[in-house]
Amino acid sequence: MNHKTIEKLCCPFDKSDLNLTIISEENGNISEGILICETCNRVYPIMRGIPVMSPDEYREFHLEKPSLERWEKHLDGKKVENFRLISNE
Ligand SMILES: [Zn+2]
Repeated sequence: MNHKTIEKLCCPFDKSDLNLTIISEENGNISEGILICETCNRVYPIMRGIPVMSPDEYREFHLEKPSLERWEKHLDGKKVENFRLISNE
């Protein structure tokens, strides 16, 4: 998914802008990344170029967990729980 398309995305819950962290990209397309909503702290992973932005009840955390653990160093020491970014204190 390319930058322009990603930048147009907003949080499906509160329509806030999302903060993008790029993990990897190929030929200008983001293949892995993290979108974080500043309002509700929800975390939307971009996996294989596709942003996962389904409602909570349709998301399967065990599918996202391996990627999020691998990307932990990009999360400033924070953890993801229940699809939301939480402080690790
Ligand atoms: Zn939100």
